[in-house]
Amino acid sequence: MSDIIQLLPDHVANQIAAGEVVQRPASVVKELLENAIDADATVIKLIIKDAGKTLVQVIDDGKGMSATDARLSFERHATSKIKSADDLFKLNTKGFRGEALASIAAIAHVELKTKQDDQELGTTIVIEGSEVKSQEVIVTPTGTSLSVKHLFFNIPARRNFLKSNTVELRHIIDEFHRVALAHPSIGFSMFSNGTETYNLPPSNYRQRIVNIFGTKTNEKLVPVEEATEVLIISGFVGKPEFAKKSRNEQFFFVNNRFIKSAYLNHAINSAFEGLLKDGAQPSYYLNLTVNPQTIDINIHPTKTEIKFDDEHTLYAILRSAVKHSLGQFNIAPVLDFDR
Ligand code: ADP
Ligand code: MG
Repeated sequence: MSDIIQLLPDHVANQIAAGEVVQRPASVVKELLENAIDADATVIKLIIKDAGKTLVQVIDDGKGMSATDARLSFERHATSKIKSADDLFKLNTKGFRGEALASIAAIAHVELKTKQDDQELGTTIVIEGSEVKSQEVIVTPTGTSLSVKHLFFNIPARRNFLKSNTVELRHIIDEFHRVALAHPSIGFSMFSNGTETYNLPPSNYRQRIVNIFGTKTNEKLVPVEEATEVLIISGFVGKPEFAKKSRNEQFFFVNNRFIKSAYLNHAINSAFEGLLKDGAQPSYYLNLTVNPQTIDINIHPTKTEIKFDDEHTLYAILRSAVKHSLGQFNIAPVLDFDR
């Protein structure tokens, strides 16, 4: 009998991984913005053409890469962010899997320009479908620019699966909001088809929310602050009378990372019980800080799901903190005996 198992070539493995990491242009936006943040950028610019189908570009003023690192960054499992499995439980970066750039480069035309502060010259690399087309020395500002063109050029099924530009742009804006909310001290701008659609200067959290969602938002924000041994909560909920049908102003950030949690969302709904009209959704913008040892974010490559050690306790603290805030602002009669 002959042996039939073989190792997949890298470009095939990368394309398979890309299927999980990159669902749509918005996934590219998320990965590139997060890389810019991890590089300690203070100003980040996002440029979009045709809802990301033609171009997604992120330009940052972060620490840049050496010529060798620039090349290595496109290898699978190549990361500067963790060194061992232990590091997974003390993460202070967005990235750690070392998969994003390798995946994106497997399914698009990518152009990288990067320079470190102490270097005179930078590096540019062009990669198309995992194939390095060129690597050259260039004059470029400190920081990194990554352009991703013709996403899914070599996977027609994926390209055809993309939704209308309106829908894809909506997803991009959602990702942009999440990242910008999680990092109010960083300046962000966004350009779509040549028009500046957002210009968010560095600010505090309240101001960032207002800059994104409009000046009217200011009067609806009710602060929520709580510090316990297992959970620190900081942020805002919207006053019940401002609640709308849509859920697009519901944000949990756990250790500065946007996450989705139906369970914690339920805690908020339950704190708003009796205060909302039928079908109205509370808005919330809540930062939760927990010990990184008590969570696992390595559930899925997109990292929007998270596993908490003790969900029930977090639920109770969150619910009670939100109820307390609503009560303090005379929004609900204070009938809350659990505090
Ligand atoms: P991860 O973010 O999980 O480490 P990526 O594939 O997203 O994996 O990036 C690989 C590596 O490339 C990063 O660990 C980092 O060292 C480098 N890198 C990527 N983007 C940037 C950037 N904008 N500025 C500086 N370095 C970057
Ligand atoms: Mg990354």
